[in-house]
Amino acid sequence: MTKTTNILIQSAQFLKGVGPKNIKSLNKLSIFNIRDLLFYFPRRYEDRSNLKKINKISVGSVETVRGRVLTMGLRRLRGRKTIFQIAVGDDSGVLYGTWFNQPYMKNVFKMNDDVILHGKVDRYSKLQINSPEYEILKSDDEDTIHTGRIVPVYSLVADVYQRYLRSLIKRTLDTYMDEVMEFMPCEILKNGDLIGIKQALLNIHFPEDFKKLEIARERMIFDEFFLLQFAIAIKKHDMKENIKGIKFKMRGAQIDKFEKKLPFELTSDQKNVIKDIQGDMRCVKPMNRLLQGDVGSGKTIVSVWALVGCAAEKYQAALMAPTEILARQHYYNITEMLNPLGINVVLLVSGMKKKEKEEVISKIAENKADIVIGTHALIQDSVVWKKLGLIIIDEQHKFGVIQRVKLQKKGKAPDVLVMSATPIPRTLAITVYGDMDISTIRQLPPGRTPIETYWISEKKRKDFYAFLKKKIKEKNQVYVVYPIVETSKVLDLKAAAKMYEHFKQDVFPDNNVGLIHGRMKDEEKKDVMQRFLAGKVDILVATTVIEVGIDVPNASIILIEHAERFGLSQLHQLRGRVGRGTKKSYCVLLSEAKSEDAAKRLSAMINTNDGFKIAEVDLLIRGPGEFFGTRQHGMPELKIANILDDRKLLLAARKEAFSLIEQIPNIKEEKDNLIISEMLARFPQNQDLFSVR
Ligand code: ADP
Ligand code: MG
Repeated sequence: MTKTTNILIQSAQFLKGVGPKNIKSLNKLSIFNIRDLLFYFPRRYEDRSNLKKINKISVGSVETVRGRVLTMGLRRLRGRKTIFQIAVGDDSGVLYGTWFNQPYMKNVFKMNDDVILHGKVDRYSKLQINSPEYEILKSDDEDTIHTGRIVPVYSLVADVYQRYLRSLIKRTLDTYMDEVMEFMPCEILKNGDLIGIKQALLNIHFPEDFKKLEIARERMIFDEFFLLQFAIAIKKHDMKENIKGIKFKMRGAQIDKFEKKLPFELTSDQKNVIKDIQGDMRCVKPMNRLLQGDVGSGKTIVSVWALVGCAAEKYQAALMAPTEILARQHYYNITEMLNPLGINVVLLVSGMKKKEKEEVISKIAENKADIVIGTHALIQDSVVWKKLGLIIIDEQHKFGVIQRVKLQKKGKAPDVLVMSATPIPRTLAITVYGDMDISTIRQLPPGRTPIETYWISEKKRKDFYAFLKKKIKEKNQVYVVYPIVETSKVLDLKAAAKMYEHFKQDVFPDNNVGLIHGRMKDEEKKDVMQRFLAGKVDILVATTVIEVGIDVPNASIILIEHAERFGLSQLHQLRGRVGRGTKKSYCVLLSEAKSEDAAKRLSAMINTNDGFKIAEVDLLIRGPGEFFGTRQHGMPELKIANILDDRKLLLAARKEAFSLIEQIPNIKEEKDNLIISEMLARFPQNQDLFSVR
């Protein structure tokens, strides 16, 4: 760790104009020290630079004028109401500034003050601005900060005022600017055609003009990306050079036997990914790979390769899935494939009986379980592994980074493969999964026909039921999905349960209707899923427990109720429950969507079946911060940069950061390195990069 005697990390509390009350409010804006103030960037800017003569301003427009205070007066009205008014004149006319119920304003101005007023001009009996922004000029050449220029506007909390914060930041800049050190190597500044940090800071807050603001922003955005990518580059480098993992052979009798028994020909994308995984696992550096592929593209079988390779050398492997139903499905399928090879597969989910669980946990501890498939239950403290060599996380976007790391720490540098059906655009991938290698399955297995998607309203419900009856006769199976909203869980369960009764009794009395939701007992869930898989249930009414991973190839129709309540990725995931076999499949969205965003989501569903396109639209609608929701604890918070708008700078910054680490691989060891201090100041969560192993 680098030590710093930097004055900028002193608390902002000791600045002039910051009292104990102010500092509490500033803290709410995450402003703690002087540095935080300097790097508290404006949310937007207002152009108040265009000064006009009073006889040239127009009523109804926002204008800025400069003149002298000619008269001022405070009038008391009925009750406790007051009006304070000043007349400001230049050599062309007079304009009034008016403040209601702010009697203290009379102490702000003096006769003959040189002032600037800014605001929307009204005309009553005279020209007037209500509650104008104002500034009193001390001498002719003093910098104005609140008016008469491009003015920064900051995000605020309740008891911090725009004027106060603006003045405080201005004073802090004036006083402490010299303490800000340039941390970016000259070379990089030159390559990117970037300005110095001081100039950038000055212009990001108080730009002289819009051109200067633009280049200041460019520098600040570049910095943010660069520092993040720098941390990622260090992580990746450490992984390569310093961590010794397991060298698997990835060949032998068991693998050969497994390959021979495959029920289908692999797609060429699948083959390529298997090559990637084999290459990683043969290497002493631990595998750290993200496998992304659209719903139904066949990720599971690819991961089984890794499982077999691991078990073949008597290491243990963990496969973690976000729901019990999915964990069970994997357990059945993988057991069936691997038991004949003499590989022992066990299941660990929280819904199991206590005794069963204890048995499995002791098997894991004694290395009597080769492959353990489960849910979050796998990361409990009580689960201790004898020889954990590989972890696979399915539907990774449903987990947080913390959970991944927790599982990882149960082994000694195990290989890691995470899989996700929410393909993310490259720019997001290099920000969030920047230290991982990425493989992608783009093509779906052959023989699938594209799913047809419809958006219907309540009026069409009856017609749709008729269509379902016909389709069920032709041996199709159907999902009907209800949303669950955390705040009204009980209510929503009722909706699903009620619909189930209604279907069974009134609408589809001749068919088999099933119900599944998260609150059901483990046994019941297991039972109904098995009956659905065996074709003994025609219509499965479900909550979002079936959202991810479930694979019942004969199911070919999915009806999504209240489709407007689902996110776009979620809708796409749900749609992925069908279209898994050769039958023509349908996804029907039932919704009276009113909001614009909801309409955009539903339209996107109709317009494309491509998960990558869906992800891009989702990112656009929700913005990068929301895209992952709260689960993705690993998503760094960006203050000024935006991975969508600033793609180019992101790529440039990444390139520079990675080539810097290549040139100076031991930069981490350097005492007082400026880049490292800067990175930790901005992204303190990267501290762990420097913790002793
Ligand atoms: P996902 O990528 O969504 O996890 P799965 O691994 O569940 O997809 O695979 C979806 C379905 O496609 C499964 O029924 C699986 O057996 C089947 N499948 C996978 N690969 C192929 C292939 N190459 N040819 C035919 N079917 C395949
Ligand atoms: Mg899957």
